[in-house]
Amino acid sequence: KIIETTTINGLRFPRKLYINLAENGYPVYFGERVALKAGEFLKENVAGKKILIVSQENIFQLYGKKLEENLNEKGFKTGVYLLPQGEVAKSMEYILKLYDKALEFGLRRHDTVIAFGGGVVGDATGFFAATYLRGINFIQIPTTLLSMVDSSVGGKVGINLPQGKNLVGAFYQPKIVLIDTTYLKTLPRREVLAGLAEVYKAFLIADYDLAEWLSKVDLAKLRQREWQKLIQAAVKIKARVVTIDEREEGLRAVLNLGHTLGHAIEGVYGFKSILHGEAVALGILWETKFSKDLGLLPPEEYEKISFFINKNYSYLKLNSTVTPENLLLFMEKDKKNRENITFMLLKKIGEYPEPKELNSQQVLQWLTKNFTR
Ligand code: NAD
Ligand code: MG
Repeated sequence: KIIETTTINGLRFPRKLYINLAENGYPVYFGERVALKAGEFLKENVAGKKILIVSQENIFQLYGKKLEENLNEKGFKTGVYLLPQGEVAKSMEYILKLYDKALEFGLRRHDTVIAFGGGVVGDATGFFAATYLRGINFIQIPTTLLSMVDSSVGGKVGINLPQGKNLVGAFYQPKIVLIDTTYLKTLPRREVLAGLAEVYKAFLIADYDLAEWLSKVDLAKLRQREWQKLIQAAVKIKARVVTIDEREEGLRAVLNLGHTLGHAIEGVYGFKSILHGEAVALGILWETKFSKDLGLLPPEEYEKISFFINKNYSYLKLNSTVTPENLLLFMEKDKKNRENITFMLLKKIGEYPEPKELNSQQVLQWLTKNFTR
């Protein structure tokens, strides 16, 4: 069964979603304490008896013991490897340490590795899983909003090189993704807002009503059920896109709304001090303004977007290194051999944006005229 649903506030949302790929499709489960299903699932679907849990100290301290106990109860022998904080964990240095740990622990072909953390843990662990012994079983238990709605679904795994982010990686699908929104209770506010930008993006490209709903709610007052609702809806949107375009050959580009400028902002910051989602929030604001100025997006729809971003992200103040010229330099470097810079431009809230190639001159002109900190 591809989708089982549950009713929240009178609306139906998936409780289980099946990511229906040509091969290696996998289920995504939602719910409180759903992570503790891992043992049950592995018992039925996996031959190996050893599990390596990869996490970070803060996350493991909060939630690790329960997960480990559950797996042990189900008869699995567990090992734990804790990665450091931040992008440094997504490096060959730590992948080599993971290989060492796995060999020492005796992890074999039919055993399993669990990524228990945010996108950093998920990306690095997934890359380890794809390469160790030519691929072992991999489970995602995301613990940040961003990893729940974005990085844990879609199969992209990878690490950074000194020359740039995510330059080495693979498409490697997990066996199962378990999304327990109760982990969000301890997530720092900035991290929540970073993830929220990707949620809002998902709604902007695929669901007018949810985009409207999200801009009206008071985030501080969102209840657990409502978090669940928005996460389930966002995952469903991403799932639909990645099922059609598993290997990023076309449709996945719709997920890049706000990312051309967002990525440039991160790039100018040297990928430090601003979170990806925060940069994407500003990217969404600017790119939809661009779309309005090009006569594509109706002004009243742009106003809605501007209202949402200003309401939630007005704390973001760009520093003086972020200038139209620096943003352009980054986008030109990033576009790889192509003449023009591609923007995903929204024409209507709730419908997939369309790619538009714009030349550097046009982009610089617009930025210079509209740029504000
Ligand atoms: P992150 O993994 O760095 O986590 C953010 C912080 O929150 C960390 O300090 C982490 O320890 C902490 N944390 C995690 N869960 C917590 C919890 N429940 N309570 C308290 N603290 C918690 O950041 P992220 O935003 O989850 O992921 C960012 C990474 O994801 C980037 O490297 C990015 O490239 C990658 N990414 C990958 C994809 C993909 O498709 N593979 C998509 C988007 C982003
Ligand atoms: Mg993104």
